[in-house]
Amino acid sequence: FKIPTTKNEPVLNYLPGSPERAALKEQIAQYKSSEMDIPMFIGGEEVRSGNTVRIFPPHEIEHTLGHYHAGDETHVYRAIDAATNAKEGWEALNWEERAAIFLKAADLISGPYRQKLNASTMLGQSKNVYQAEIDAACEMADFLRFNVHYMTAIYNDQPASSPGIWNRMEYRPLEGFVFALTPFNFTSIAGNLPSAPAMMGNVVIWKPSKTAIYSAHILMELFREAGLPDGVINLIFAPGPVVARAVFDHPDFAGFHFTGSTGVFQDIWKTIGNNIHKYKSYPRIVGETGGKDFIIAHKSCDAQAVATALIRGAFEYQGQKCSAVSRAYLPSGRWDEILSYLQKDMKEIKMGSPEDFRNFMNAVIDEPSFDKLASEIDAAKNHPDTKIIFGGNYDKTHGYFIEPTIILTTNPSYKTMEEELFGPILTIYVYDDSKLDETLNVLDKTSMYALTGAVFAKDRAIIQKITKRLSNAAGNFYVNDKPTGAVVGQQPFGGARGSGTNDKAGSMLNMLRWVSPRTIKENF
Ligand code: GLU
Repeated sequence: FKIPTTKNEPVLNYLPGSPERAALKEQIAQYKSSEMDIPMFIGGEEVRSGNTVRIFPPHEIEHTLGHYHAGDETHVYRAIDAATNAKEGWEALNWEERAAIFLKAADLISGPYRQKLNASTMLGQSKNVYQAEIDAACEMADFLRFNVHYMTAIYNDQPASSPGIWNRMEYRPLEGFVFALTPFNFTSIAGNLPSAPAMMGNVVIWKPSKTAIYSAHILMELFREAGLPDGVINLIFAPGPVVARAVFDHPDFAGFHFTGSTGVFQDIWKTIGNNIHKYKSYPRIVGETGGKDFIIAHKSCDAQAVATALIRGAFEYQGQKCSAVSRAYLPSGRWDEILSYLQKDMKEIKMGSPEDFRNFMNAVIDEPSFDKLASEIDAAKNHPDTKIIFGGNYDKTHGYFIEPTIILTTNPSYKTMEEELFGPILTIYVYDDSKLDETLNVLDKTSMYALTGAVFAKDRAIIQKITKRLSNAAGNFYVNDKPTGAVVGQQPFGGARGSGTNDKAGSMLNMLRWVSPRTIKENF
């Protein structure tokens, strides 16, 4: 079998007068005028607990988008039973039949689901149109299509045989179920974490972030419409600790697919470790966690390119990407020039509702996040080592808005150079041009993370030197580009150290984690 040629989904431009703009506006208007009633989805059935929770846009907190039905531990057990019942039939399908379902889902995104996913992400997670398009539409379709491509490569990878002997590898799914715990910041990651293991023949319990249930519901409808059999992916909305208790205690727990905070991942790893004697097999643990992503510029850099990368890397989607630039090391000899480009470009940033397509920035995800960011800004206002050179204001009257904020620090170990904040706050340290080596040492050891980073330089020897020196500081390293916006199939994404297991989302490495191969040797 040959699968259809795998290509990245084209990014549409939404210019005034374009059909995609009209379709998106209409979808947004429709969602805003109807309150959605969002059930869990267990074993092919919509499950309404009656315990409903209001959903609202982070940028317009008075508006009600709908309600979801919250679950409890009985729903988790029901989901595990449904997954267990679906398992035999799902693994018995030919892999081509499984692939067809996910390829169909990708085509539905190119078609009628594009604007449903975009609108639900814009309203529910406060993303602007471009950020929604590259995530909920393009990256989601790319994950589905490229994962099918990797899946075929895995199944076709067979060992050598010799005369009279036939050796083969049977890429079985894991013996048990996979648990997917998904983040708010990328709709595509929320869709990929359950669908990648499912593609390899696994059954899945899926708990999305409570701040992204609106788009998770649309993803679930997409999978259903594409023909996913009942019980293969079960979507539940019970609180994290309740789900964790039931799932990690279960003998059939076989795999964990996670994107979220380092702290949660480490706690879960410990729980799994404590329960290890209960499971049939050692569970597969795949996690992408935090980041404290950097830009280091050399004096040979293009100053305008650095300023653009700082602004786009730090403030797109309000800095709520694991890959967002949150610390920068800039050369003293070029600082004035970089600063003047920042002054010019920061003035252009508009912030407000994503319904106004001119807004580059929208609200942060929720009140706890807003409060934490506001307190970090206040701390920097009052600290002798720091000065706020842009932004510094915040307001939660109608939505959780934090101005794009740049802190200049004289201390390269200042708190906001080290700790992940997950918001629109960038800290800059200007280093003495003659102290590049010391600066690289500080950069490498300041934070516990190693997700993304970028070097800006024109001097080739410097690019080589910095790339080599920082070889463990980032799983995705960019030369003369911002360290965000990895494209599936082009820049496989993930990091090590405190940033995760580095199994690269949307890659063969990741897909290999969801199989437990059996080697068969047959003598003729
Ligand atoms: N893959 C995304 C990027 O390259 C980041 C994913 C994340 O935030 O988890 O920007």
